[in-house]
Amino acid sequence: MSIIRIIAVTITVLLASSCNGQSTDSETVETTISQNSERYAQYLGNAGVMIRDGETKLLFDPLFEQNFHIYQKVPSSLQGAMMAGLPPYDDVDVLLVSHAHGDHFSADLVLSYMRKNPTVKLVAPKQAVDKLIRVGISETDLATRVTAIDQQTADKAITVQIGSILIEAITIPHSGGQRFADVRNTVYRVHLQNSYQVIHLGDATTQNPPFAEQQTFWDQQSNDLLLTPYWLFKNSQRQANIDTHIRPHRSIGIHVPTALSDLKKRYGNALDEVDLFTKPGETRDLDVLESTTQEK
Ligand SMILES: [Zn+2]
Repeated sequence: MSIIRIIAVTITVLLASSCNGQSTDSETVETTISQNSERYAQYLGNAGVMIRDGETKLLFDPLFEQNFHIYQKVPSSLQGAMMAGLPPYDDVDVLLVSHAHGDHFSADLVLSYMRKNPTVKLVAPKQAVDKLIRVGISETDLATRVTAIDQQTADKAITVQIGSILIEAITIPHSGGQRFADVRNTVYRVHLQNSYQVIHLGDATTQNPPFAEQQTFWDQQSNDLLLTPYWLFKNSQRQANIDTHIRPHRSIGIHVPTALSDLKKRYGNALDEVDLFTKPGETRDLDVLESTTQEK
């Protein structure tokens, strides 16, 4: 594969928020996208990430309302652009929801998004779909556009085919132990072109056994990009979920608190060498990542 020379351009997205009729916004989101990049990941906020691979576009956990005064919200200019389906958020194929917590999913926003973007499909755990039913999703949309994942930890993967996109889903417990034991946290592995796979872990546990139980799943494919909650980077016990079990080619930390200096105090130097998404609109060129890993 020839090395593509990347010319980065900075696009400033400055849009009045049109979401929910609110117009409280004067934020500017700096978006750096490599001109020649066919495949990239863009950070939206908290665990929200857009993956673009040529004409294929996915949104993970993009529409939520809460940040619990800790996490990064999607700036309303960016959210407004997604809602309106403005480039690069036009023609999104699939919206994937990890779990029905307020810092990952808002039933009202997802319903509104689906009405404004009538071709997008949704894959989400049943707990999130139940909330969509409560806020009034139509029977037709439910039947034709929504896949509800209903599975237990340690169940085999459920596969969902949407056009040319193959999605596998497993359930890994939510972090926090008993407190969130009832929350179904869906982990997705999405197959993109040229056997490139992206995994999003949602709010996966720091414990090792649930990851070990799914070793067959992790080993079935090359796991090219892992989007992981930052807390798995904290120490070697947690990092084993990544390094021993999933073994991705590349990891990017998400769900990062906005108070980075406080986080640094708690984590010492554990985050110094890792890649974190912290600024909405920032991107990672996945073509470059792939050629970099091939040269190792
Ligand atoms: Zn959660």
